Amino acid sequence: MTVKNETMELKNYVNGKWVDSSALECLDVINPATGETIAKVPVSTKDDVDQAVQAAKNAFQSWRNVPVPKRARILFKYHTLLTDHHEELARLIVQENGKAYKEAYGEVQRGIECVEFASGAPSLMMGETLSGIAEDIDSEMFRYPLGVVGGITPFNFPMMVPLWMFPLAVACGNTFVLKPSERTPILANKLVELFTLAGAPHGVLNVVHGAHDVVNGLIEHPDVAAISFVGSQPVAKYVYEKSASKGKRVQALSGAKNHHIVMPDADTEKAVANIISSTFGSAGQRCMACSAVVVVGENNKFVEALKKKADELVMGSGMEEDVLLTPVIRKEHREKVLGYIEKGLEEGAVLLRDGRKETEEMEKGNFLGATIFDHVSPDMTIAKEELFAPVLSLLRTSDLDGGLQFIRQSRFGNGATIYTKDASAVRKFREEADAGMLGINVGVPATMAFFPFSGWKDSFYGDLHVNGKDGVNFYTKKKMITSRFDY
Ligand code: NAD
Repeated sequence: MTVKNETMELKNYVNGKWVDSSALECLDVINPATGETIAKVPVSTKDDVDQAVQAAKNAFQSWRNVPVPKRARILFKYHTLLTDHHEELARLIVQENGKAYKEAYGEVQRGIECVEFASGAPSLMMGETLSGIAEDIDSEMFRYPLGVVGGITPFNFPMMVPLWMFPLAVACGNTFVLKPSERTPILANKLVELFTLAGAPHGVLNVVHGAHDVVNGLIEHPDVAAISFVGSQPVAKYVYEKSASKGKRVQALSGAKNHHIVMPDADTEKAVANIISSTFGSAGQRCMACSAVVVVGENNKFVEALKKKADELVMGSGMEEDVLLTPVIRKEHREKVLGYIEKGLEEGAVLLRDGRKETEEMEKGNFLGATIFDHVSPDMTIAKEELFAPVLSLLRTSDLDGGLQFIRQSRFGNGATIYTKDASAVRKFREEADAGMLGINVGVPATMAFFPFSGWKDSFYGDLHVNGKDGVNFYTKKKMITSRFDY
């Protein structure tokens, strides 16, 4: 498919062809569980970006005029192909990202759901009309695509995040240049291969591999009308500001610190099961992962049950049975997290469970055992920053107001959850929690493709979120027609 030789050097996909990048440098793509190099990814240049944008610009001239139902039919076919390749796609994710097969299988499903949503383009792209805005005068609104859209994606969801973007963008009549994460680039080539098989014309979807130069090439390019970005907070802010300064439409989804409030009346067993899976699944490398638990009241029963469950967690490579705790993406990231753990100790947090010890025998992969700090205060570094790792902070408070205050204090506002049976606590939480995606007794309240993925504060830069009606509005511009009929 995408390979040049035994070492599997990935190619770019431009104008319907696999092409060599003009890059002089390649990066290793490493299996996080084994440390093996499984592919090499070119660090493409701005020239490569220019070629891909030109191909997308040319393709846009005809693609914009393809009737919307015809565009939707390609997405129906794509849906079938993705479904047929569900297991293969999940295995590829495990190989390059390291997450457990079950998680990867679920990710593929979430990606397929985005294609399902985009297949509704004929309904989604409908405009609005009003006859009689004045005597003998009517108004109509039509939607049009923007042109070439650039998509820049993170390592942690190599399938779902690209599928948040390009299916809806192209269904709306845009053409697309995707820059996948250089740490998990393999799946993107499979996605574009299947999209071509589904009947997408040349140039509608292009892939340029690489790092900063490709990102800068896209956000500075005068022929790129809009940028969809998902990644860490500093990069999201940079991409947002730079793209906006160039007059582009931009949505930049960013980092997170998601608080889960455990009320005294919560079902301990269920809350623990949800928190364990949310915190330690995918090694905590999810933007909707629980990373801070607010324990309301002297609930030592909950804390003990949480620690006991963490002790029972199975750690290993993603293809092993019953594994929940998988490696983090790179050795350097593991080192950074170890630094955060030291910082937590220095700043006075109590290490309830030290996951560092369990990993001594697992030298090859980037493993880190489940780590839990207790008595964390909101001004500590581990409470403020996104660690993106299997490290959990427990914060203590006497009431719900205290928990809501912790959420307000966080610069991030992606998600938050409450565990309780108390309807008034639920309502107060719903009204006052300062985050865009809330869970009521739900561990990972990530939204489905037909709703916006709705982070707040420093978890999102822009106006229109990905997915749902926001996604359609982001990828289309509106034209108003006012007609007089007494002429
Ligand atoms: P990252 O910011 O390192 O990389 C994201 C993309 O930006 C990659 O394609 C990368 O090549 C590029 N990039 C990185 N540094 C750059 C720079 N200095 N200049 C230009 N481009 C650069 O993010 P990651 O580590 O791959 O992904 C994890 C992050 O993504 C976490 O912070 C997570 O919370 C966030 N994320 C957020 C959401 C959300 O919906 N809010 C979803 C998934 C992931």
